[in-house]
Amino acid sequence: MPAAAAATGPQKALAKLGLARDIDLALHLPLRYEDETRVTQLRDAREGDTAQIEAVVTACEVVYRPRRQLMVTVDDGTDTCVLRFFSFYPSQQKALAVGTKLRLRGELKGGFLGWQMVHPSFKPAAGDLPTALTPVYPTVAGLPQAYLRKAVQSGVARADLSDTFPPGITEALKPLVWPLREALQFLHHPTPDVSLATLEDRSHPAWQRLKAEELLAQQLSQQESKRERDALRSPALTTRAGGLHEQLLAALPFQLTRAQRRVGEEIASDLAREVPMHRLLQGDVGSGKTVVAALAAAIAIDAGRQCALMAPTEILAEQHFRKLIGWLEPLLAPQGLRVAWLTGSQRKKERTEMLALVASGEAALVVGTHAVIQEHVQFQKLALAVIDEQHRFGVAQRLALRQKMHEEGQEPHMLMMSATPIPRTLAMSYYADLDVSTIDELPPGRTPVVTKLIADSRRDEVVERIRAQVAQGRQVYWVCPLIEESEALDLTNATATHAALSEALPGVMVGLLHSRMPVAEKKAVMQLFVGGQMGVLVSTTVIEVGVDVPNASLMVIEHAERFGLSQLHQLRGRVGRGAAASACILMYSPGESGKVGETARARLKAMMDTADGFEIARRDLEIRGPGEFLGSRQSGAPLLRFADLQTDTALLDWARELAPRMLDEHPELARRHTARWLGGKSEFLKA
Ligand code: ADP
Ligand code: MG
Repeated sequence: MPAAAAATGPQKALAKLGLARDIDLALHLPLRYEDETRVTQLRDAREGDTAQIEAVVTACEVVYRPRRQLMVTVDDGTDTCVLRFFSFYPSQQKALAVGTKLRLRGELKGGFLGWQMVHPSFKPAAGDLPTALTPVYPTVAGLPQAYLRKAVQSGVARADLSDTFPPGITEALKPLVWPLREALQFLHHPTPDVSLATLEDRSHPAWQRLKAEELLAQQLSQQESKRERDALRSPALTTRAGGLHEQLLAALPFQLTRAQRRVGEEIASDLAREVPMHRLLQGDVGSGKTVVAALAAAIAIDAGRQCALMAPTEILAEQHFRKLIGWLEPLLAPQGLRVAWLTGSQRKKERTEMLALVASGEAALVVGTHAVIQEHVQFQKLALAVIDEQHRFGVAQRLALRQKMHEEGQEPHMLMMSATPIPRTLAMSYYADLDVSTIDELPPGRTPVVTKLIADSRRDEVVERIRAQVAQGRQVYWVCPLIEESEALDLTNATATHAALSEALPGVMVGLLHSRMPVAEKKAVMQLFVGGQMGVLVSTTVIEVGVDVPNASLMVIEHAERFGLSQLHQLRGRVGRGAAASACILMYSPGESGKVGETARARLKAMMDTADGFEIARRDLEIRGPGEFLGSRQSGAPLLRFADLQTDTALLDWARELAPRMLDEHPELARRHTARWLGGKSEFLKA
């Protein structure tokens, strides 16, 4: 390879690891360490030890039995050891010439022939032994450890590691927290007397410092974005006696639950302020979030403004649309106002009509998919945006919403709804800038769903159950994980299941819904199911979000072991919405090993143990870590690398408390701190 290309290879690999700045290199911490500070005498060695020895080569030959290998014998004065190399270069053979004194490192195996090492690392025994443990860094192909070690070392030397913690601030945490420079130097090259356990579980004071730094950076950036947003303005929306809000309440066919009333009041008091609302409404599946959103919309409309409601899929948007039309249109019509519908798949003529309604302000409420915030949609007087299943909406969409306001520095009030509750620790750290309202109560009259775990081999029994349910006039969902047998995964395909069920259930209408169907077809299928004509709906996970058919009493989930926990929970929430006794059957098929994997088992067990969405979310966090909860923020969001939200709660509390004070009293330090830790990435947290 030409020298120039060789020089850029590792550079490229560094970039791939995101190690661009000196500080990035300094913060690239070892995976583990090797102890090269000591030399073990073969006499004292134990079987299985990874040891460093110093020994002289007494024999070196290529042998061909049992297979070609370089066999080297060394002697350290206390015993001998055989080294075996199954692949080797002539240059290595030369470096292992008889008489050479080597420093060797590898795993010692005892045996019939005495000590052996297979492919040990070796170099000539020269110079002093190192005094610190040798770091082993996470790396990628094309980036040798030795190169990376040098790069990190010079990164540590060059980076500005001056303290950014405000003076006096670490007092509370002493003696937990070391200065940053010392902490980093130590973690890259710990002294051999350190307890490796404290490095592994990250309880060592040097680790505490890094975690404190990281959490502080994260809290600072959250606080900053909150402040930026607080500087924005929204129209203040107040309710009026006898207004639309009251009328809607009176018209509803049910009483609100206590929890719905409480969150409704929280939202109403946010809307009455000029500071943009930025609130997450979380509530388990079926807890009744839609009506709370409708009541918020009523407040906005009553104040003479427009409200936009967005859902991640067209089917879900349509469900909302029907519901909202049913509730609101009779009240809006006398005022000459309407509910508009906007989606990507709409016919041009209808779309043009709807856009005109939105632009003139005649559409007081606009329901739809992402199409609602596309560029050419002009609102006359938008004031409230409701976003269902917010984790599917990204930063870009939020910024687009801001563009819909007529005045600079304005933002619509935002209400995000989610059935996946954010665990408290995550809410406190990643969503520090978000207010949270929780519906912690289901409407009355729901029957608990019985959950059953059944092996795929007992499919016939499941079909019998379906038959019985349908015979009683009930409806059934059957969910499959993928729609085609491609992707090298041997998943039962929804199409085949649909065919098999149709055959097994003569006289029952069995429908099929999958994500690659044309929208019109999807709608037609949904309408038959919602209308009750269709007894069984086979679908891929498109029904995951928000379908509401109270007559459905059985949910069968095929290959349940392949679904995520919150997905399973959401799917189960599709039944048990009416008064009928309902069940959820989790069908699993053991893989080739004959067993269901460990995490899959943990998920299925959680489903059997509890129906409480919060408990589910807590276990989910345990099983898969915080990454996936963050949804769209995940991409680009600097997830915590060092701190752990589960165990580092004391440090998290400390950082939360300090961040606002630091912004007020030491803005320059705060700026340096976030720049050091988040670099360009902090923008992702700001929207
Ligand atoms: P989710 O929170 O999962 O979005 P929905 O808003 O779809 O739940 O509500 C689930 C069902 O419960 C809907 O049919 C809705 O009309 C009904 N519902 C909502 N609130 C109440 C209530 N207080 N009493 C009875 N039924 C309610
Ligand atoms: Mg919903």
